[in-house]
Amino acid sequence: MCGIVGVFGTPFSFQEVYQGLLLLQHRGQDAAGILSYDFDSKNFHHYKELGLVSDVFSPEILAGFSGQMAIAHTRYATVGPKNPIDSKRDIQPMTTNYPHGIGMVHNGNIVNYFDLKNHLQNEKRRHLFSNSDLEVLLNILSDGLKDKENIHHFDKFQNSVKALFDQAKGGFSVLGILADQGLFAFRDPHGIRPLILGERKLTVEEMAAHPAHFGKSYCLSSESNSLNFLGYDVVRDLAPGEILFIDNLGEIFSSTDYSKTRNIQPKSCMFEYVYFANPESVLEEKSVYSARLDFGKNLAGEVQKLIDSGEISPDLVVPIPETSRVAAISLSENLKIPYREVLIKNRYIQRSFILNTQASRNRAVQLKLTAIASEIRGKNILLLDDSIVRGTTSKRIIEMVKEAGANEVYFATTCPPIRYPCYYGVDFPDPKELVASSRSTEEVQDYLGATKLIYLSEASLIKSIGKESLCMACVNGCYPVDVSSAQKFQDMRSLHRE
Ligand code: SF4
Repeated sequence: MCGIVGVFGTPFSFQEVYQGLLLLQHRGQDAAGILSYDFDSKNFHHYKELGLVSDVFSPEILAGFSGQMAIAHTRYATVGPKNPIDSKRDIQPMTTNYPHGIGMVHNGNIVNYFDLKNHLQNEKRRHLFSNSDLEVLLNILSDGLKDKENIHHFDKFQNSVKALFDQAKGGFSVLGILADQGLFAFRDPHGIRPLILGERKLTVEEMAAHPAHFGKSYCLSSESNSLNFLGYDVVRDLAPGEILFIDNLGEIFSSTDYSKTRNIQPKSCMFEYVYFANPESVLEEKSVYSARLDFGKNLAGEVQKLIDSGEISPDLVVPIPETSRVAAISLSENLKIPYREVLIKNRYIQRSFILNTQASRNRAVQLKLTAIASEIRGKNILLLDDSIVRGTTSKRIIEMVKEAGANEVYFATTCPPIRYPCYYGVDFPDPKELVASSRSTEEVQDYLGATKLIYLSEASLIKSIGKESLCMACVNGCYPVDVSSAQKFQDMRSLHRE
């Protein structure tokens, strides 16, 4: 998963995408980049580097940008070698000068990446410099635009994107800049990955700074929290398969017919609500915060049955920080069992799931949490986490709570068992790494060392999010997009990890 943000219309576009990236940092911590375009000088400005957003962009570097449109990316690597030289090649934005100046960022994964890469190399004689599927998308789009003269004519542009949809299978949201012509955005035909449009009026200061102003500024982002922060009103989520273009006069063009005419069903990623998105964000008109409150409420119903049957007897509800906190408050309220934050997070340690190697994840678990033994000793503790992926973090935390003197440790999660790999942008591609892929609930419970393991059911997850049009493939194996070529992706991912 990555975070993307793009701004069109304000002379401070690059400053806004920088601030937007800071709000999207939780979506990826490997690298960050910004590309801006200045209609006056007809120049691109581009900078990207490994590291956190605030480390990559110093005030001096930001001062080198100018332009009325900009796109930006914070990277979470799901494929690609880890050595610094090769991994630097995969940082976004990526650009090409043929047949037009184009820059792009994306969030997601292309499942048939290797087939498309081979086709580009062998049939189109393109040399690819990275291991990023964005470079493949960039080449397919630029190839589709090469014979088109007035590409700012929206019909011609949208036909090139539709040809890309026909070829690229996966979950992806894309933002891009066409030099001198405008900013574009599109979302995969199922709408697996999020992308939200916002708008605001320009301020007097902005209008004075750029006389040929557009009157309005537009922002597109992976999450609404960055739109809110930057002062944009949310207009809407892009529809699945929507293609949007804001031209050099500030006029918006949009096409939503690709998915409709093919009867492609919407399948937004449920894991955004469970883990990835900021609780302040609203995705597809559903507040992430309220979804997590409902996770806790609906889980309480399932936990209460176990209490009533005498199977468990929790004294405290304890969230595993940070993501599960909202659901744990709701779980505690509904069960009428005290809520205690007795696992204290070291805020300077990165989220362990998003780290790339098992070794770094193990170290991070040991460093990131401290248990308050005086509050835990002799009590039955009901721990709540957002999900169990590999199980290593959960196992270590249960050990830690036992070492702190807990009597019994129950472990609940706001996600059903993750049994299948994700090929659409989340980093659990190998079934061997998923603790629930080949184990029953009782076997996972034993592996973790919990007295009782309680998963939120699929039905309660859907009820909490409030819609059925969700991708749940990592839970139920029903992949909305063809994954027949996923084995190559999986093999390459494993190779790069080694
Ligand atoms: S497989 Fe899971 S993580 Fe991947 S897009 Fe679907 S719901 Fe999200």
